Amino acid sequence: MQHVCVLGSTGSVGANTLDVIGRHPGQYSVFALTAHSRADALLEQCLQWRPRYAVLGDEACARQLRTRLREEGVSTEVLSGARALEEVASHPEVDAVMAAIVGAAGLAPCMAAARAGKRLLLANKEALVVGGALFMEAVAAGGARLLPIDSEHSAIFQCLPEDPASWGERIDRIVLTASGGPFRERDPATLRDVTPAQACAHPNWVMGRKISVDSATMMNKALEVIEARWLFALSPEQIEVVIHPQSIIHSMVVCKDTSVLAQLGTPDMRVPIAYGLAYPHRITSGSQSLDFMKLAALTFEAVDPQRFPGLQLAWQTLRSAPGSTAVLNAANEEAVSAFLDGRIRFDQIHAVNLATLEATSVPDGAAGSLDTLLALDAEARRIARERVQRWAA
Ligand code: NAD
Ligand code: MG
Repeated sequence: MQHVCVLGSTGSVGANTLDVIGRHPGQYSVFALTAHSRADALLEQCLQWRPRYAVLGDEACARQLRTRLREEGVSTEVLSGARALEEVASHPEVDAVMAAIVGAAGLAPCMAAARAGKRLLLANKEALVVGGALFMEAVAAGGARLLPIDSEHSAIFQCLPEDPASWGERIDRIVLTASGGPFRERDPATLRDVTPAQACAHPNWVMGRKISVDSATMMNKALEVIEARWLFALSPEQIEVVIHPQSIIHSMVVCKDTSVLAQLGTPDMRVPIAYGLAYPHRITSGSQSLDFMKLAALTFEAVDPQRFPGLQLAWQTLRSAPGSTAVLNAANEEAVSAFLDGRIRFDQIHAVNLATLEATSVPDGAAGSLDTLLALDAEARRIARERVQRWAA
């Protein structure tokens, strides 16, 4: 029996994780669930899963949940605040942690789980984009098992042998596939008029709002390039991106001998989640099998840099001072949030990211500790907010 802590359980990946766990009641039990502010959604999950702990972002929400749980006769202990996330993620009775918080807010609990040597199922790509080498060092020092949940990275992981020591000698490069999002064919001149609802309407995946906007700008793929650099110890030049609108091939490894290995499947996050939970075994995920007779043609296109100018920022920041990827992530989180609130236009997301990268100086050693990284993250957010305010309509 594996005791699982689900960070961000009320989100899209969190809910999919509980769906897979529910299919294997003898193998997994839910030890802790966490949400930012949705006490009502967390209450429903606590009633169903009866975890030992539930965590909410602030004490007012936690009090509300505590009262409701007492009324229902449920003994789940309710904690609040960022520190509590680290406590449940590193709790001695936890075997596996699903990191499904969105944004840099997930970095500290991921680091806690890594240092405590947990099986760490990583959906929260921003945590690795911000943490970089420091994150990977914590994984190594704690003896944690890092299992990628992002579908592209799970695909790459599934195409590689179990021993990471052999990856370097066999990989020539990897190819991350991208759907191209909802605006792949839209006239770039009209992108300034895009609404949050249009940006969140992804053709192939149902996801949280932040990652949906990132998919529309292709900043999601930029974050994934940075994520892949760390997960698979690659140089930025070894990572390619190709548009594959059907989202059937989830990514590919090109070997030194030119052989290409790919992982295919229905676009359903329960597949990489099930793989992460059961690794190195396989369990049912609830997903539909591919029907090759009904499959549309699998096609590939190059990324148009005019339409998706943010993508190249991945390679640019990876080649800049360590910590630059944290600046890019902070700017993008602020810009997306401003776009979703109607404060800036869609095309201004990239403008905020560029301006913040230009205006933020990355001190020597900024990427050397969690404190300095979080200080850099805060400074970049301050600068990004300033830009947003200047441009807000
Ligand atoms: P979501 O918005 O649906 O859910 C986010 C979860 O994090 C919620 O439970 C929310 O309460 C919690 N949360 C938000 N802000 C928080 C904070 N400041 N502190 C603590 N908790 C907080 O997001 P999602 O789509 O499930 O994505 C989660 C992560 O997984 C993201 O990093 C995303 O990039 C990654 N991911 C998602 C998908 C997908 O299909 N949704 C696919 C690949 C990767
Ligand atoms: Mg992905």
